[in-house]
Amino acid sequence: MSKTKIEWAEETINPQRGCTKAGAGCTHCCALGTTYRQQFNKSLPDDVREASATCTEKANGVIRWTGRIVPVESHLEKLGPLRNARKPRRIFVGSLADLFHENADLDYVNRIFGRMASAPQHRFIVATKRPSRALQYCREYGLMPPCPSGEHWPDNVIPLVSIWDQDSADRLIPLLLQIPAKVRGVSVEPMLGPVNFRWTDYAYRASGETYREYLERNKGMNHLEALKYIDWVICGGESGPGARPMHPDWARSLRDQCVGAGVPFAFTGWGEWGPLTGPHGTHTGDVCLSPDGFVDVAEPDYVCFANESDGAHLRRVGKRLAGRLLDGQTWDQYPEAPHAMA
Ligand code: SF4
Repeated sequence: MSKTKIEWAEETINPQRGCTKAGAGCTHCCALGTTYRQQFNKSLPDDVREASATCTEKANGVIRWTGRIVPVESHLEKLGPLRNARKPRRIFVGSLADLFHENADLDYVNRIFGRMASAPQHRFIVATKRPSRALQYCREYGLMPPCPSGEHWPDNVIPLVSIWDQDSADRLIPLLLQIPAKVRGVSVEPMLGPVNFRWTDYAYRASGETYREYLERNKGMNHLEALKYIDWVICGGESGPGARPMHPDWARSLRDQCVGAGVPFAFTGWGEWGPLTGPHGTHTGDVCLSPDGFVDVAEPDYVCFANESDGAHLRRVGKRLAGRLLDGQTWDQYPEAPHAMA
């Protein structure tokens, strides 16, 4: 178990290693470099080092995932004693992997779930860009209602689907809504474009009904009511080398959608690029970012081409200086009370 700087978790644990990139949100995957370096860290257990060497490689100076997904039993064992730890904790399981990768052994994933279920006083957060594979796990292991196996998705495990723009939201959120969890979250990190949550459409697609049936059953439903299917939204900009900037209006819109619907919202920060006030284009290296994501880089005597009322002026000041304030306020909301599915 490791302490973490991740804003919404207290600890991380990685009982499985390995992944492959699943879209633009993965371009600067920070788990990849960390995992690769672990094979050389002699203070780590042998199975961690072996797993790191198996699931990553370096070719022509470029580090990449091999696509092999490796169980790490020493970390699975660390989940066991949590049963006896009374103080509730928020634990991110799989911060260096996607537990629901296509090549993951679902029997092993099921063992991880068994350990998490046996410690109901804690909240476990499982992030994935592959909710379809999570659904496959639910179907194959009898976790889809009415749960003939007698098992069910543990109430204390929060599936957190990672999206990064509207297209990924439209593809992945309807799948998240079919996971039979008590609490579900969406992480928009790194945020690479505006996201409108089109809530009603998601709820309809998750219902399994025809559109006519759905409208009949939900007469008078407005688009924010459909948010009851989602319990938590996290948003943040990108960090590290090559980080891409986030337009402040993208984060504001997400916050406003959540506030309007009463859904807990967490803003983890701007990432590398912080918003600036004052004249646009005053500093070489600044960017002017239009709401559709067009980036214009400032040169000496730079004139911003974006409409001043829409374009955001950002400077690469680093994650720490860019900070976590959104319109002067921090957002650290967390779902304490599960919303039941209607
Ligand atoms: S899904 Fe996560 S761990 Fe896997 S490549 Fe993408 S960012 Fe990295």
